Amino acid sequence: MHGDTEAGKLYVVATPIGNLRDLSARALDVLRSVSAILAEDTRHSAKLLRSWDIATPLVSHHQHSGARAVDRALRQLNAGKSLALISDAGTPLLHDPGAPLVRAAVQAGIRVVPIPGPSALLAALVGSGFPADTFHFAGFLPSRQGQRLHLLQQLSPLSCALVFYEAPHRLAKTLADLQAVDPDRPAVIARELTKLHETFYRGRPDELLTQLREDPNMARGEMVLIWAPREPGDLSHAPARIETDELLRALVREVSPSAAARIAAKIIRGSARGELYERALKLGAQVKSEGPNPAD
Ligand code: SAM
Repeated sequence: MHGDTEAGKLYVVATPIGNLRDLSARALDVLRSVSAILAEDTRHSAKLLRSWDIATPLVSHHQHSGARAVDRALRQLNAGKSLALISDAGTPLLHDPGAPLVRAAVQAGIRVVPIPGPSALLAALVGSGFPADTFHFAGFLPSRQGQRLHLLQQLSPLSCALVFYEAPHRLAKTLADLQAVDPDRPAVIARELTKLHETFYRGRPDELLTQLREDPNMARGEMVLIWAPREPGDLSHAPARIETDELLRALVREVSPSAAARIAAKIIRGSARGELYERALKLGAQVKSEGPNPAD
């Protein structure tokens, strides 16, 4: 209770990731009954509401909405109005806006009610064929190659499946990075889930790169990348395998030789930072004389 009025509820509602029929009966009830729907992009969500004859007002609430939008929503909730938070697709907060509002609502003692439903991450995982009891979701990989390789190196010792959201224009580079880090570890690309062209591509990184060359559609649309769990007993994970020069060459394209040596020393166990620095200087000079990387 807040004053004399009972506070409203904040519903966090999952919406379709492609197929508009993936809206649960409960999600429909909630979207029809709340005072307003807070949406990442009101024009985008208007299509979903139209297709389900939902007349509830839409209010814009995105990652740049800021503290004033959160305060406004809290005032409405405290005044007894219930609100639903949705994003453009899937489950809000999963690489979508909403975390500050939900945090503020929790802190204000407002009841937060999740309405579960689609998420690209779980749909991809359960269709991947890999064990799904434990997994590590790492969101989007960094766009800079040095940082991407560094993160993949850090994550590769984990024995569970690794799940990433991936941007189509980066797919080839990411697959090449997976190959550099652990060429034998299979991966799955889950593309256009729940849509007309839903496709799962499966194989080792080199096989996926071959498929990509043969089928340019593979790099179109939305996709999730899943890297297989390591085989039980496989101790030959990436840090022991990566070629020092390959790693340093990638790093010196992005960062100074001393930063490259520092990062590489963390990745390659037992390596001497001084030697790595000398090598990074040499490779840095080579890379400079070769000009821009054709993969960039
Ligand atoms: N909150 C969403 C969810 O629960 O899935 C994810 C939002 S995030 C901004 C968008 C990313 O999710 C896309 O770049 C893609 O990696 C993945 N994604 C969303 N819809 C997808 C789909 N239908 N098929 C494959 N991946 C999808």
